[in-house]
Amino acid sequence: MATLDPHLQSIYEVVLRRNHGEQEFHQAVFEVFESLAPVVRKHPEYADNQVLERLCEPERQVIFRVPWVNDAGEVEINRGFRVEYSSVLGPFKGGLRFHPSVNLGIIKFLGFEQIFKNALTGLPIGGGKGGSDFDPKGRSEREIMAFCQSFMTELYRHIGEYTDVPAGDIGVGGREIGYLFGQYKRITNRYESSVLTGKGLGWGGSRVRKEATGYGTVFFADEMLRARGDSLDGKRVAVSGSGNVAIYAAEKAQELGGTVVACSDSGGFVIDSAGLDVTLLKHVKEVRRERISAYAAQRGSATYVAGGSVWDVDCDVALPCATQNELGEDAAIRLIKNGVTLVAEGANMPATPSAIRALLGAGVLFAPGKAANAGGVATSALEMQQNASRDSWTSEYTEARLGTIMRGIHERCAGAADEFGSPGNYVVGANTSSFVQIADAIIALGVI
Ligand code: NDP
Repeated sequence: MATLDPHLQSIYEVVLRRNHGEQEFHQAVFEVFESLAPVVRKHPEYADNQVLERLCEPERQVIFRVPWVNDAGEVEINRGFRVEYSSVLGPFKGGLRFHPSVNLGIIKFLGFEQIFKNALTGLPIGGGKGGSDFDPKGRSEREIMAFCQSFMTELYRHIGEYTDVPAGDIGVGGREIGYLFGQYKRITNRYESSVLTGKGLGWGGSRVRKEATGYGTVFFADEMLRARGDSLDGKRVAVSGSGNVAIYAAEKAQELGGTVVACSDSGGFVIDSAGLDVTLLKHVKEVRRERISAYAAQRGSATYVAGGSVWDVDCDVALPCATQNELGEDAAIRLIKNGVTLVAEGANMPATPSAIRALLGAGVLFAPGKAANAGGVATSALEMQQNASRDSWTSEYTEARLGTIMRGIHERCAGAADEFGSPGNYVVGANTSSFVQIADAIIALGVI
């Protein structure tokens, strides 16, 4: 494990003590702190004002019971979370995750990452995250609706367009946002469109929001290559996951000339030598809600491999788009051996710290999720703008705005990496440029 400078180490030890057992949160804090030594040297006012100590403590953490009735007539109890992490730059903003692995440490790590990501977009949004240990897999439509309604029956008192604006994440897509929004509307008797983002196009949603995280990740990767006189054209791309982020990353990578040779789910992976048929993949996953094995069964050029790792597939570009810590050091070494030249994180913290060190050490271009996947939340902020002005933009205009935002993030990261002595290192660039913006705002707003 890398070491921290002594000032940062002492704060990190307090984080470990005060947040016992929350490994993912510790990891997210450590990864940011690793980049900050030159920043705290240049800005002594951050230490004088305890900026880091304040940033490591969420403004508010809500944990609640979610009781609901399943199709067998039995009562089930889940746990709901909302961590309202930081509102110095705007209302708390970040998705809701429904997955059995969800616990407070995971929501806190996601909320912490979200503050930096949202700052990088240059838009006025703070950071938050929420969710539940509810497992939507195999549930009926009625059960999903009952769960969402019960979840919102508690959550509604904590959120609002000027307070906290949730969106989707793993296990929460357009269907769930619909049920959550419906219940919020019913309880409050207000059509408060921008209390949630990721809404359907017919009732306040933004064009390109569904596609934005995946598209944005590919725009960012493309920008990294362009800065080096290269492009995605002709590159073999491997994507992990086959959910919202993965599908639209695959779609945009192929539009820009890449061939997406593999994708996965938690059961296994698919190799498709002809390049993924994204229309078929969308039908299997979004319409029929089936596993990727069903995609392979309907596609002659594809093979399904149960278990195993998608990172065994030969590729030039790897886009981890599934979940945290899904790309470990061994997988990174295999990717390097197989010739990978660029890894861009569509998911949040999918590469472990040792995997990142291996990739950077081998000269692989690496984009951290807080920069590369920021297109999703940025387009959520565009959805809030459209809701506030009672307007609806075209796909072309919205996608062009997304492209401009991703180029801006790339420029900010590259500039900060230069300024803080690590040219070409997007991890340092993303952490330092966002941290400076947040730290200055924390000082400007006083001790609150
Ligand atoms: P989805 O629920 O749509 O898809 C998740 C995909 O990842 C599924 O294919 C799922 O497979 C796979 N997956 C989940 N957990 C695991 C696991 N433990 N091992 C292997 N595969 C797994 O989620 P999203 O696409 O929305 O989110 C993916 C990632 O992107 C997350 O890290 C999320 O935080 C991040 N993200 C999402 C944004 C968004 O706008 N949606 C914005 C920014 C980041 P299976 O079906 O088998 O579980």
